[in-house]
Amino acid sequence: MNTVELIRKKRDGGVLSAEEIDFMISGLVKGAIPNYQFAAFLMASFLKGMNKAETATLTKSMLYSGKIIDLKSIPGFKIDKHSTGGVGDKTSLILAPIVAAAGINVPMISGRGLGHSGGTLDKLESIPGFKTNISIKEYKKVIKKCGAVLIGQTRSVAPADKIIYALRDVTGTVESIPLITGSIMSKKLAEGIDGLVLDVKTGSGAFMRTMNDAELLAKSLINTAKAFNKKVLAFITDMNQPLGNYIGNWLEIDESVKVLQGEVIDDLCTVTFTLSGAMIYLGGKAKSVNEGIEISKELIKNGKAFDKFLEIVKLQGGDTSFLTNPDKYPKSKYSEKIYCPVSGYLKSVDNYQIGVSALLLGAGRLVKEDIIDPKAGIIFHPKIGDKVKKGDLLAEIFTDQNLVIDSVKEEILNSCLFDKEKIAPVKLIKKLLS
Ligand code: URA
Repeated sequence: MNTVELIRKKRDGGVLSAEEIDFMISGLVKGAIPNYQFAAFLMASFLKGMNKAETATLTKSMLYSGKIIDLKSIPGFKIDKHSTGGVGDKTSLILAPIVAAAGINVPMISGRGLGHSGGTLDKLESIPGFKTNISIKEYKKVIKKCGAVLIGQTRSVAPADKIIYALRDVTGTVESIPLITGSIMSKKLAEGIDGLVLDVKTGSGAFMRTMNDAELLAKSLINTAKAFNKKVLAFITDMNQPLGNYIGNWLEIDESVKVLQGEVIDDLCTVTFTLSGAMIYLGGKAKSVNEGIEISKELIKNGKAFDKFLEIVKLQGGDTSFLTNPDKYPKSKYSEKIYCPVSGYLKSVDNYQIGVSALLLGAGRLVKEDIIDPKAGIIFHPKIGDKVKKGDLLAEIFTDQNLVIDSVKEEILNSCLFDKEKIAPVKLIKKLLS
């Protein structure tokens, strides 16, 4: 087989056989196919798509590029949640300790920021000392001790996704149903889980902007999970505005801690508790998702979820004093406030642009080698449908790079549309698929 011929075949809309897809994936992981050729293959696959069989093979090849972690020695149900990505989406940080505190194991392999969307790993690494690249032996030790562990892809687990994810991030090849399916499911299936809850985002800040695409992706993910005998539920949730108010790595840890300590941030709590409720239900500790939601709220109220978060962070090397005293975290060199330019109702937000603005402030990567500034980001105040007055605080930005401040301020202002007419708030949980 010949790499150039396979790139040409996909470029011209051909259907690749299992052997051909396997050749590309194993060639990449072994180093026989250079990144520039694989980037061309990704763009061809992005533009021409992959059918169901190709998507299934891609997922399998990516999964078997590494090991599947065997968690049989750890008693109890193992469940994870995966979100397709968005702006301010910090639900994993809150629900992992909730579900572990409910007595269900949460072995989590997460990704870094991708395109305009943030990544759980980058957020966790903003906690001084927190290690996401621990060995599988250590991974098992942490989950055995406290019921949850959060790591990234390694050289032995889903190594193909580690390489492909970083390439897609910088080659404009993120928003593709087969590539997202392969990426998410190869990581999730490698974790040794029994069940999976999926949060498929739709809206201006999501990779799937339309409900139709979100449903297609949800179905693709569900089919793959079922083919591997996993219990699965998928929610389609709104991503037309930031989830919660904080966007940026440390800022999102800070907001998650607030929720874990009992602060009610309506949209963030609704989405997080729905997902944790579904995990508790699939894990057999509740008779329905609604009962799982009530258990989640109780575990916040009685402090057990926050205690569990501290335990996880400590076991993975993180300095918990920053969580109990967030004020001691280093501050950005520059912070600026942006005000509402008119009175009226917030009608819409170009949430993609909000994500890109956070990235430009230093919270994400423009090229693979970029180093993230954990302090950088945005606090975005109003929600769609809120009544605002001219001069009300719209957003605050935090960065060490003063050269980007003016353009980011303009971008954030341009992202928001206001109207004199009353606007209905957005529906957060749009659909449940099983
Ligand atoms: N999350 C992933 O892990 N991969 C994607 O491609 C998109 C979201």
